[in-house]
Amino acid sequence: MKKDLIDILDLTTQQIDELIDTAQDIIAHPDAYAERCRRKKIATLFYEPSTRTRLSFEAAMLDLGGEVLGFSEASSSSASKGESVADTARVVACFADIIAMRHPKEGAPLVAARNIDIPVINAGDGGHFHPTQTLADLLTIKREKGRLTGLTVGLCGDLKYGRTVHSLAAAMARYEGTHFVLISPKELAMPEQIVSEVLQKEGVSFEVTASLEEAMPKLDILYMTRVQKERFDSEEEYRRLKDSYILTPEKLQTAQSGLAVLHPLPRVNEIAVAVDADPRACYFKQVQNGKFIRMALILKLLQNAPSATKRPEGDLYPGVRCENPRCICAAEQELPARFYRGREGILRCDWCGTRAVRGGRA
Ligand code: ASP
Repeated sequence: MKKDLIDILDLTTQQIDELIDTAQDIIAHPDAYAERCRRKKIATLFYEPSTRTRLSFEAAMLDLGGEVLGFSEASSSSASKGESVADTARVVACFADIIAMRHPKEGAPLVAARNIDIPVINAGDGGHFHPTQTLADLLTIKREKGRLTGLTVGLCGDLKYGRTVHSLAAAMARYEGTHFVLISPKELAMPEQIVSEVLQKEGVSFEVTASLEEAMPKLDILYMTRVQKERFDSEEEYRRLKDSYILTPEKLQTAQSGLAVLHPLPRVNEIAVAVDADPRACYFKQVQNGKFIRMALILKLLQNAPSATKRPEGDLYPGVRCENPRCICAAEQELPARFYRGREGILRCDWCGTRAVRGGRA
């Protein structure tokens, strides 16, 4: 098992199945787990606003008998004084046994993980990944559908900046018989990195459409997402796209009776409140499941810490750079620019996975 959870692909499908089994056991026998993390501490380092993810991690640790410390915005941490992510992580590692980090820059939790020995969980890094949301999604799908295989999964909305759909696509692509329907306006289409390194690499079948109505009857799972206002460079572009898809009871009329509607929340107006009464609406159950699967994950990472392996590091390629302005390497210039070779030999930034470009560092 890896020491950290940075990308959902740090876990094998077998490890995911074990976490799902543990979460289901926790749901059935919560008292048996109430003291399992006594005297252990989780530090929740949230440089970006969050309600459910931070509280979910904290509730998970408290329900395991452990304790929590941390901060919920960058302005209340030393980041506001200019401290690097690596230094903050080194300091916090002196106080805590495990860290959950959310950061607006892509790759920031990986920087922390590379600099300390305690486990680091990526609780959302920019528009990149959100692996624990995916664990919550998988547990929900398993509980609602009874399986993770042979499902047609519609991912709808902001597929460009929505980190939850990037991690969910990576996870579901490994299960036999998955078919994706990618539903978005073309401006918010799935990034090249996910299409190439996840969907094409796994050879998973997928189709692309702008029409939710057209996709609806085929779907076993409909995963709605919020248009990620905070990641847009232009307010006008955000306003033009924000209401691209609104799920209503009328639109659900052509859906299968066994459809499960998921949403990582917060919802702005992608799902009409009237849909909440439909038995196919699973997004509040998903929140509950999130706490149980985080309990399972915290337990596993703490248990495995002594023998766990670190993620391999990328290599230094002089004359190559990452051009992603949302990457942690753009914010912290002293970080080594490391790269790995992805599918078809394409060089990608080790921190954020973006395709590298030739030319000295800007
Ligand atoms: N809560 C999810 C996230 O942190 C989804 C969202 O913010 O729209 O990515």
